[in-house]
Amino acid sequence: MARHTLPTVVAIDGPAGSGKSSVSRAAARRLGFAYLDTGAAYRALAWTVLDRQVDTENADAVAAVLKDFDYSIGTDPDEYFVLVGETDVTEAIRSPEVSAAVSAVARVPEVRTHLTELFQSLAANVDRPGVVVEGRDITTVVAPDAEVRILLTASEEARMTRRSAEITTQSAETVADQLRSRDRADSQVVDFMSAADGVTTVDSTHLDLEQTITAVIDVINTRTARASHD
Ligand code: C5P
Repeated sequence: MARHTLPTVVAIDGPAGSGKSSVSRAAARRLGFAYLDTGAAYRALAWTVLDRQVDTENADAVAAVLKDFDYSIGTDPDEYFVLVGETDVTEAIRSPEVSAAVSAVARVPEVRTHLTELFQSLAANVDRPGVVVEGRDITTVVAPDAEVRILLTASEEARMTRRSAEITTQSAETVADQLRSRDRADSQVVDFMSAADGVTTVDSTHLDLEQTITAVIDVINTRTARASHD
């Protein structure tokens, strides 16, 4: 019988605009690892809640949506997709409406428990030697025992500038306001602005994308080399 070796887990947390998604995906691609975007699951649930016209402020009603939340995500960094049932929501979950609704959905305790279990199972079953899991509470809740744990930060100014360059359909001011209010709501649920014990901080404020990817891969290589010598 083939022995099932658990994949190496790289946990990356950080706020929006830190470069987390692009960096995590690029690092996974270069290392031949799988990639798991956990924010996409919270977004897909928020999309479903809005689609069913459920009140996002009604925690019980939001939790009830979990019963038949049929969600799937691609963990191949080259073939990223997000499905709810048969519907491809890869683009739709990035809309301003979903971004505005997601924090309310993500603060429901039943939602967090359900999705955390889902992430742990997805991460344990990838068909690659490792998996990069990115989000807000990966280093602390989803995978606190991960071989590599990184907090990717950047100054608020750098994050706002990056986000407004990505979102061209809204003014820079609107994007910054929305991001600030999402950060405020999210940080009441999980502390993703300071590194927990044993977590390595990579500050991308003065780094471009390529330099940030290199810095993250350096941390991964150092940590995994150390783990194999322990
Ligand atoms: O990473 P992204 O900005 O796509 O995440 C969308 C939202 O999902 C966050 O604003 C947060 O409310 C929620 N989230 C979370 N825990 C995670 C990942 C995302 O609460 N691990």
